[in-house]
Amino acid sequence: MRLTVKRLLPACLVAATSIAGLQLPAAATAGPAAPARAGASAAAQAAVPAHTARREARAARVPTVVLTFDDGTSDHLAVAKMLSRRGLKGTFYVSSARLGTRGFLSVSALRAIAKAGHEIGGHTLHHEHLTELPDSAQQAEICDDRRALLKMGFAVRSFAYPFGDFDETSRELAMQCGYTTARGINGLHRPDSCRSCPVVEKIPPADLAGVRATSQTGLPRTARVLREFVTRAQQEGRPGMVIFVFHEIKNDPRDRYATAPKEFAAFLNWVAAQKKAKRIDVRTLGDVVGGRVWPVPEHM
Ligand SMILES: [Zn+2]
Repeated sequence: MRLTVKRLLPACLVAATSIAGLQLPAAATAGPAAPARAGASAAAQAAVPAHTARREARAARVPTVVLTFDDGTSDHLAVAKMLSRRGLKGTFYVSSARLGTRGFLSVSALRAIAKAGHEIGGHTLHHEHLTELPDSAQQAEICDDRRALLKMGFAVRSFAYPFGDFDETSRELAMQCGYTTARGINGLHRPDSCRSCPVVEKIPPADLAGVRATSQTGLPRTARVLREFVTRAQQEGRPGMVIFVFHEIKNDPRDRYATAPKEFAAFLNWVAAQKKAKRIDVRTLGDVVGGRVWPVPEHM
């Protein structure tokens, strides 16, 4: 049976009662994503604190680096600590059904990551190719995963498509299930395959169900190559997000997704120094886009 998923969220707006413990401060709802739900945020718009305004002004001048990590592999607890030690925050996308299984984070490890101020996002229950699934299975993969993560106490607003694989049904389901953004794995500049692609994603992204990123899959992920994605944006002087997609941080040259810890640490050191010098901003995707934590509507 074909799902009748309606465009973006009016149902959510109506169904959106609060989830205990998952409310964001009012200021967070006044972020750039607010126009998509203008009715809900009009009152909050008036109350943007000065520090938020200053940060927005700075973000308008320098690139915002968004560090995202897919799959919730067990190394990501140490990765989160590497970020924290340098005063950086990342977005960690996990598949709830894999938590606690061999090679993946436990729920308590994920809680420690969230407690350190990093963002937890959804990445479906089982990490399958969504476009190969019937609609009802896509819905379960996206919505039941988000429901499970919310139940565990994670304020999940951001979603990433496994393998960056999505179709119109996946896009609509991600929004209907209450996610604020759904991230792919490409669409931003790559020196090999996407030379004419934009260097940064807009703030807020023009397409919240298809947020563009750069995964570097297949590129040598050295600190130098990673840095160039940021310096290119700095040189262009255009505001926006350089959204990185990392997978495992480990020494395995045969793994085309992995990044060597030494190179990753060198890159993070540089990112932290650039942030300190106010030449970039570093924020989680949920923080940049803003918006409240919507519940999963009961009918989904
Ligand atoms: Zn993945």
